[in-house]
This record gives sequence, structure tokens and C-alpha cells, in this order.
Amino acid sequence: MFDVNATRKDFPILSRTVNGKPLVYLDNGASSQKPQVVIDAVTKAYAEEYANVHRGLHFLSNLATEKYESVRGIVAKFLGARDEDEIVLNSGTTEGINMVAYGWAMENMSAGDEIVLSVMEHHANIVPWHFLRERCGVVLKWVDVDHHGNLDPQAVIDAIGPKTRLVAVTHMSNVLGTRVDVKAITKGAHAQGVPVLVDGSQGAVHAPVNVDDIGCDFYAITGHKLCGPSGSGAIFVKKERMAEMRPFIGGGDMIKEVHKDHVIYNDAPMKFEAGTPGIVQTIGFGVALDYLMTLGMDKIAAYEDQLTKEAAQKLGALNFLHLQGQPNDKGAIFSFTLDGAGHAHDISTILDKRGIAVRAGQHCAGPLMDHMGITASCRASFAFYNTSQEIDALVDALHLAHDLLG
Ligand code: PLP
Repeated sequence: MFDVNATRKDFPILSRTVNGKPLVYLDNGASSQKPQVVIDAVTKAYAEEYANVHRGLHFLSNLATEKYESVRGIVAKFLGARDEDEIVLNSGTTEGINMVAYGWAMENMSAGDEIVLSVMEHHANIVPWHFLRERCGVVLKWVDVDHHGNLDPQAVIDAIGPKTRLVAVTHMSNVLGTRVDVKAITKGAHAQGVPVLVDGSQGAVHAPVNVDDIGCDFYAITGHKLCGPSGSGAIFVKKERMAEMRPFIGGGDMIKEVHKDHVIYNDAPMKFEAGTPGIVQTIGFGVALDYLMTLGMDKIAAYEDQLTKEAAQKLGALNFLHLQGQPNDKGAIFSFTLDGAGHAHDISTILDKRGIAVRAGQHCAGPLMDHMGITASCRASFAFYNTSQEIDALVDALHLAHDLLG
């Protein structure tokens, strides 16, 4: 049984007020709040254990290195990877996907080759592929979602042709909450010899992930949505793909020898981690993942499913609210517009006055907004520390917004 009230006490920020009202934080899709254990770990790392990693032979450098390196194993466990050497530590999903674009795709694709994407991708899983389109002439092939916001895995598989070299798809939409069957997509893509990159920025937050079971080649996550510090993250890269990848950023740490006429790179995965990393951020990220695993991702998923059902029912009952997408398999993310509300920003401003934090805008998902025929929406995105009472607070505030704007 998941005890939400006990869990809330782990997050100091949840007891503050905003505009004189108790904070109702429903912007978890943008970034999650941090439990005290993470805040303490970050403070301790700076106050007592800080030095650069991998370089010094002194006590503090060894200690910081040990703590930093232990995170690779924690991420491997969190993602169900077989080997921690398949984990590249980085600053988040954006860096992870760019690394794949420059380090793997640029090496293994040429003009006319195709990348299959869904229209539901976040810009972080679109723009790096546009770079390749601009620089190398690769072709982006788009797969639509249906009017409920479902992405049919077979439609993705059917889009794969003889020139397709990569499928890049999200595990969960950051706008509609749609969960994507990335295992089925991977099976179908692999049957045609095509690797699969999964953007796990949202998917890994709401349910247990096992990359071994999914079978995908790349799986990117971002620490700040997983209760960790911003500027932390990781990407799982299957051994075979890692062997095909060239370093993307050059500098210290990723190199064994540097001479005037040649260089010798470090072994993988270190050769994909150049320069001084986010040492303390990564240490905090490891503590955050341990925290989530102790709570139990399966328990988190079950509790959030309950919240999702309740929110779907209560928001669905508001006849002035237009929910964007009602996919069959949906996580705890709701996007909507209101009758009469000129802009999503007007709604979020009214909610903010009631202490309720939501996001308004296009959610870094331009092609999806075009597909849905809207320019902006409001998004309420839940976490395992949100409650049923907070859903009611949102519903009350939406009534107020409708009265004021409708
Ligand atoms: N992909 C998805 C689905 C996201 O929701 C986000 C963040 O909002 C990202 C990628 C980018 O993550 P980051 O900015 O942490 O690299």
C-alpha cells in the first residue's frame, strides 16, 4: 500500500504556500520536486566530499569518484540494464539524444536514409534529427497519432522501409500522457534490422522500466524529472550500438593519450563523457533513483494509475473543458483548453493565484500541437506525491477560471 501522506513529508517544498494557498504542484512533467534525501546528499557532497573526479589521487578525489561512479550501477539497476558499462552519464535526455545523433547516427547514416518518428515527440527527440537532415540529408518520416492520441505500434513498424536506419520514439507523451508500446515497436523494427531509440524522459518517471525486456538500443532519461538535480541524466546504449558509436564531445576524461598526431580514446562508456561532469548533480541523481526504487516503481505506478483514473473522471465531467487526447493507455498527464479562455496562459495565471502550478504553452511539442490544430494548452502533470484533494483543488480552480474567462 502506498502511503502518500508519509511520502509527502519527504518533500519539504510541498508544505509551503504560494499566493497564500497551499502549494498544489502539478507541473511534474516539466520537473519534479526533490526529497530531503537528495537535498541532503547534494549539500553533503559539496560540504564534505567535493573534488574533481577521475583525476586526483588524493582522498577527496577518490571519494567523489567512487560516489560518482556508483551512480552508473544505480542507473543500470533502475533501467534493468544487464551491464553498467551500457550506461553513459550525462546532463539529461537532450544531451543523450544529441550524443546518439552525432555519435551514432552521423556515423551510420547517409543522405536519403530515413529516421522514423512519431508526431508526439518532444523537441529534444526532433531537433537533433533535423540537424542530421540539414547536415547529412537524412529524411524524417513522421507517424501520426489517432484523434484519441494513440500511437499504433504497427503504424510505426509499417513506416519502416529499406532506407530506414533508426526509429526514435517516446515512451510516454509529455503532452497527452499516451503510453507507447515501445516493446512491440522494437520487436517489429529489429525484425527489419532497424535500431530503436526510446525517449524515456516521461515513461521512466511513472512506471518501472526494463530495457532488457523492451529490447531497445538506446533509452534516454533525465534526472530532474526523477526527483534528482537538474543537469543530471543518463542514456542506456546497447553494447553493439556503443561499439558503432564515435565520441561526440572531445576533451579531458574521455581520452587515454593525446599526442600531436594522434589520440587514444578511453574505453566505453567513459569515452562518451568528456570534461568535468555534473559531479554533485549525478551523485544526487543516484540518491534520487535509490529513493524511487525504495518506494517501489511498481507501487508508484499503481498509485498514479488510481490518480489518473480519478482525474480523468473529474476533469472529463467538466463540460467547459476540452481534454486533449483520451488514449487507451494513459499516464498521469492531462492537457486541456477551456471554452472562452483566450490563451492557456490566462488559465494558468488564475490557477497560480490559487497556488496551483501547471504549465501552459506548446510543451516543446510543435508537430503534435499542429496535428491537434491548437497553438497552446494547459498541462496538469501529476506525481506520486499528489493527492485526490489536489485534483479537487484543480477542479475548483478550473470552475473559477471558466467563470472569469468564459
Ligand atoms: N523528452 C520528453 C518527452 C520530455 O518531456 C522532456 C522534457 O520536458 C525532454 C525530452 C527533455 O528533457 P531535458 O530537457 O531534461 O533534457
